[in-house]
Amino acid sequence: MSTSILNADLHCHSVMSDGTLTPEQLAARAKANGVELWSLTDHDEISGQARAIAAAQAQGMKYLTGTEISVTFANKTVHIVGLGFDHTNAALIQGLHNTRGGRSERAQEMAEGLAKVGIHGAFEGALKFVGNPELISRTHFARFLVESGACQDTHEVFRNYLTEGKPGFVPHRWATLKNAVQWITEAQGIAVIAHPGRYDFTANEEYALFTEFKAHGGQGVEVVTGSHTVPEYVEYADMAREFNLLASRGSDFHSPDESRIDLGTLPWLPGQLTPVWDALAHRIQ
Ligand code: AMP
Ligand code: MN
Ligand code: MN
Ligand code: MN
Repeated sequence: MSTSILNADLHCHSVMSDGTLTPEQLAARAKANGVELWSLTDHDEISGQARAIAAAQAQGMKYLTGTEISVTFANKTVHIVGLGFDHTNAALIQGLHNTRGGRSERAQEMAEGLAKVGIHGAFEGALKFVGNPELISRTHFARFLVESGACQDTHEVFRNYLTEGKPGFVPHRWATLKNAVQWITEAQGIAVIAHPGRYDFTANEEYALFTEFKAHGGQGVEVVTGSHTVPEYVEYADMAREFNLLASRGSDFHSPDESRIDLGTLPWLPGQLTPVWDALAHRIQ
């Protein structure tokens, strides 16, 4: 029997990174929306995992540990989701700690860039939205710029201020693809390419990403995600088959006010793919 018809939501964010809900609030919302298997995947951070495990258990919902690691590949930022790892693994904890390093300095530079176009106090403004002092992110700046009236919504902020070539954008070196995949796999988890449709890669660069990811031991790709269009579900289902990758599904939910796709409300995985949760049955708690 195919297990692709399972309400698995294996990608979302809490206040431990750039989400606005606590792990407990997310667990309750996931349960209310019919999620059967959940994962909290905070950016470069797993300190919310113990709370998420307990909250999932309290809701009677199955759980896989999760994170979303920022990686620099071909001079662009790529996200690698890790699922089902041992969240007490020391090398993984240290690797993520190092990946978070430098976010504060980057944020100061972002604020300087914004000040040059007349937006003052953005560092302090963004900090008001930060739940984890080690994880100040562009999302927190976006919330400040909406609050201050500079933009209508966070998407407009990213378009006008926080993406490449815009005044608040500061290039940053994240983890390497090899390290991210190895931290996850050596902690008994599975590495998954997050929302591949979101990167502005050429076909050659994308092929290189998938090829190198596999060579380092990566095993999965997000096919159905809140970051993909419907044609991209089909495109990356094909890529999953071509590269013999396990398929994942996740909303990438951040906030009730900002996210287009709520927890547990995505379409099912297309058929003829092996769901990543099949390979992680022994890691589900
Ligand atoms: P950072 O890790 O600080 O570079 O922030 C990246 C985060 O910004 C992503 O995880 C998203 O939550 C958010 N983000 C990136 N691009 C956009 C966009 N175009 N619109 C809204 N949010 C975005
Ligand atoms: Mn985010
Ligand atoms: Mn992402
Ligand atoms: Mn995400």
